[in-house]
Amino acid sequence: MAVQNRVYPAPAQLPGLRDHCGHVRFVWNLAVEQQSWYWPGRGSAPSSAERYRQLTEARQAEPWLAAGSSSVQQQALRDFDRAMAAFFDPANPARKPDYRSRHKVQGFAIRDTTARRLSRRWGEVLVPKVGWVRFRWTRQLPGKLAVSRVTCDRAGRWHISFPAPQPAIKREPTGRSVGIDRGVRTALVTSDGQHYRAPRISDRRAARYLALQRKLSRQHKRSKNRERTRRQMALISARVTDRRKDWAEKISTRLVRDNDVIVLEQLNTPGMVRRPEPKPDPDQPGAFLPNRARSKAGLNRSILASCWGLLGQRLKDKSEASGVTVLFVDPRFTSQQCHVCGHTQPENRESQAVFRCQECGHLDHADRNAALNILARGIQLLATGELVPAHAPGHGAPRLHQPLATTSAAGTTLEAA
Ligand SMILES: [Zn+2]
Repeated sequence: MAVQNRVYPAPAQLPGLRDHCGHVRFVWNLAVEQQSWYWPGRGSAPSSAERYRQLTEARQAEPWLAAGSSSVQQQALRDFDRAMAAFFDPANPARKPDYRSRHKVQGFAIRDTTARRLSRRWGEVLVPKVGWVRFRWTRQLPGKLAVSRVTCDRAGRWHISFPAPQPAIKREPTGRSVGIDRGVRTALVTSDGQHYRAPRISDRRAARYLALQRKLSRQHKRSKNRERTRRQMALISARVTDRRKDWAEKISTRLVRDNDVIVLEQLNTPGMVRRPEPKPDPDQPGAFLPNRARSKAGLNRSILASCWGLLGQRLKDKSEASGVTVLFVDPRFTSQQCHVCGHTQPENRESQAVFRCQECGHLDHADRNAALNILARGIQLLATGELVPAHAPGHGAPRLHQPLATTSAAGTTLEAA
C-alpha cells in the first residue's frame, strides 16, 4: 500500500526527471543482462557488492551517467537485488527481473525523501540534482518518509508514491459473511444478491481507441507521429485505469466494512479464461465474420479482468488491516452446482442469468447461486481447514451445509458511483 500524489514538474525540471528514469533503466537493464549471462554451472553472477563497484566504475567512464545522481542509480541496483531475492524466494514465486522498456511506465526512487507542504493543496519533494518538485497534496503523507518513488506513466503523467501501512477500516463485527462470484455481464455478484458493475470503456472512447490502434499500425516505427498516437492511446487507457482503481477502492471498503468473512474465487485457475465466440458468416459456411463488437468486447474484458485482480488485492490488504477474513476457494462448477441440493449439471444453468436445478427445481439468479456456492466452500474451509474438492458435472455433490436463508431472488444492481 502506498500513498500516491500527482506530480506537476516545472517544464525546466522535466529533462532532469527524464534523465533519472533513463539512468535507472540503463542500470537495471545492465544488471538484467549480466544476470542473463550466468547459468547454473557457469559460476555465479556478480554479487551485489560487485555491482555497486561496477556502477562506480561505469560512472567514472561515462560522463553522461556521472552527470546523474549516484543515489538514484544505486537505488536501481537495490531494487534489482530485491527483485532477485523475490525471484529466488520459494514462498514468493515472483517473475525473474526483466528488461525495462522505454515505452512502459518509467520511474526512479528517492532514498531519503524530504517533502514539505506549501499550501493546503500543494507540497514539494526534493529530487536529487533536480531540486524541489511540486506535487498535489491530495492524500495525506505517512508520518515517516523513507524511500519514495517517482513514476511517469505512458500518458506522460508524473506521480510520487510514499509507502505507507494500510489503515484499518473503522468497523464493528457484523457477524455477516459473503461469497462473491465474478459475473460476465456485471463485474461481481454477491451471495446477498447484489450486483456491482465495473467501469467500462464508453462506446465513444472505445471507437477512438480502436481507430488510434489502426492508425498506429500504419505509422512508421520510431516516428514522431507514432509516438503521439501511442500517447493518445495511453491517455485513454489511463483514464479507464483511474476509474477502475477508484471502483476497486470503493467496493473493497464497502465489502470489508459490512462483512466478517469474505470468500472469493481463486484467481488464475486454468480453464477459467472466457473466450469470445466467433460469429459464423451466414453467406459463407465455414467462414467467420470480422466482429467489430469483438474488439470492443476485448477491451472491456481486459478491463474487467484487471478489475478483478485489483479488487482481490485491495480486499486482501484492507481485510488484513481490519481483522476481516478473506478466503480464496476453487471456483470450478460453482455455476453448475445447485446451492440447495448439490446436484451439479451444466443444464442447471438455463441461461446467462437463470439457474434452474434439474433435480430439485430450485430457481435463482445464476451468478447469485454461484456466489452462494463460493460462500459455502469458504465456510467449509474455515470449519475444517480443508479445501472442498470441486465436483465434476453429473455427480451429485453432497450438501455442504444448510442453505442460507434466501431473501430476494432478483437482487439489486449497484453502480459504484
Ligand atoms: Zn437442486
